[in-house]
Amino acid sequence: MPPEPTRGRADAAPDVAPLGCYSCEQEALGAAAEERERILVTATWRVAHAFNSSAEGWLILLPRRHVETIVELTAAEAADLGPLVQRVSRALHDELGCEKTYLAQFSEAEGFRHLHFHVVARRPGAARERLGPNVFEHLRRPEAEWVTPGRQRELALSLRARLDGA
Ligand SMILES: [Zn+2]
Repeated sequence: MPPEPTRGRADAAPDVAPLGCYSCEQEALGAAAEERERILVTATWRVAHAFNSSAEGWLILLPRRHVETIVELTAAEAADLGPLVQRVSRALHDELGCEKTYLAQFSEAEGFRHLHFHVVARRPGAARERLGPNVFEHLRRPEAEWVTPGRQRELALSLRARLDGA
């Protein structure tokens, strides 16, 4: 399925993608993007698995167009967000047996200022020093500790099947 146009919508703020936006680059790839980058693609949001996490089930929710703040979301984008957070959380619970999901939004890192929400599976037995905000330590680990591309793909396909069935 080709990517939908992401620019020039009458109801949206100007959204010229800055050079070097990882999210917009992935969005532009459409069906050519890795499975982990398109676990679910709705009219307003795309769901990806973090490429650089040492924890399985670290999902990223991204608006389909380039915005950097919550206040720039359209009414439709905002309205779709809550149900999507619950939907992907349910898929994570079913897939990984997590006890809860964490939700966070910063969008501060260079190249990653495209608005995004982290929905993170908090699994049973998670190390105490990785609970709460310290879960972000999973994004600071060396590449050798990241969830492998093969496992990311496997998780993406499995989560997509659950989301499609939901
Ligand atoms: Zn972007």
